[in-house]
Amino acid sequence: MNKKTVRDLTDAQLRGKRALVRVDFNVPLDDAGRVTDDTRIRAAIPTLTSLADRGAKVIVMSHLGRPKGKPEAKYSLAPVAAKLRQLTGRPVTFVETTDSDEALKATTDAKPGDIVLLENTRFLGGEEKNDERLSRALAMLGDVYVNDAFGAAHRAHASTEGVARELRPAVAGLLMEKELDYLGRALGNPEHPFVAIMGGSKISGKIDVIDSLLPKVDRMLIGGAMACTFFRAMGLETGKSLVEEDRVDMAKQLLARGKDKLVLPVDALVAPSMDDGAKAHSVKRDAIPADEAMYDIGQESIRLFMQEILRAKTVLWNGPMGVFEKPPFDAGTNSIAKSLASATRSGATTIVGGGDSAAAIAEAGLESQMTHVSTGGGASLEFLEGKTLPGVAALDDR
Ligand code: ADP
Ligand code: MG
Repeated sequence: MNKKTVRDLTDAQLRGKRALVRVDFNVPLDDAGRVTDDTRIRAAIPTLTSLADRGAKVIVMSHLGRPKGKPEAKYSLAPVAAKLRQLTGRPVTFVETTDSDEALKATTDAKPGDIVLLENTRFLGGEEKNDERLSRALAMLGDVYVNDAFGAAHRAHASTEGVARELRPAVAGLLMEKELDYLGRALGNPEHPFVAIMGGSKISGKIDVIDSLLPKVDRMLIGGAMACTFFRAMGLETGKSLVEEDRVDMAKQLLARGKDKLVLPVDALVAPSMDDGAKAHSVKRDAIPADEAMYDIGQESIRLFMQEILRAKTVLWNGPMGVFEKPPFDAGTNSIAKSLASATRSGATTIVGGGDSAAAIAEAGLESQMTHVSTGGGASLEFLEGKTLPGVAALDDR
């Protein structure tokens, strides 16, 4: 990676100093305000504890949800502070206020090895505007800046981008490094055969990813509702399936460009409606009934995709194969997840990006059997499109 990381910081730069760390603690909360999935918190722990172990005062900031630039109790990071205490076993001071003087006092009062969690950055008016004054105020809270929030790196906000211009050194955290490393290698120097699997609901949101990946892959397997837009482009009946009419031409062009690189499902699991799982049945792709819709790829397609995956040395997966939230339409997604797990076991590098795909992997309990599951949905997509992430660009070059 061409950006400096926490590994490049000397002990002198950290001992007794304040490390201001931007993390992605945008976690789901239940109605009682409890954290229901702490994946993102756990993912940032290595960076936080390594800084604390090296004698830094660790000042942590994150956004949570979408408050509109002012405090809103339901988006408070207080429940996260409790979780952080539990996961690190270290003292964690939570700064309830957004008053900059009080935040500053908390950072100077902290002792080496302490963790100070600041309140939701989106309670601050200037955050999403990347306001320069706010960026300067945030920069006052640290002696070094660390960005470990890969999931927020595609946004140029005060806590992700502006602050890095005001506070040096500005380096990547360990999670950020890992994300950039795996995704970067897949794009830059993948081991072949390189197989990409694309799925999800819409082709429109992923067209730039497909565009940028197509020249690099040996095969691109297409599942999800996205496949139906391709079916339409091939002149097939798609019934009530989700098809993006205005993208059919684009799908035609991709088919022409991709040639035999593009692998479409050969059969479909169809039903009269999404809630009619009991009536689900398998048909060849050219026999989708006019009054039914495709909600998953069929068994033959699963076998076909599996073969391609097991031949690969690098697999990149984005987007579920079907409506995985509703069995039996989760079969394709689960089978692909299992294939990736066996590919990993046989030595392939397997990378999963995308919020719903990552959720499906977690639900199947297969997270630990992937080489890397990205914590950043939108950020990983933008990265795979070949875009520069502002939160990364702002960090110190090596
Ligand atoms: P990711 O978050 O992994 O990038 P997307 O957000 O693009 O994935 O797509 C996920 C959604 O696509 C899921 O909610 C899933 O139900 C939906 N989906 C997948 N296949 C189909 C299908 N055949 N018909 C309708 N919706 C589908
Ligand atoms: Mg999604």
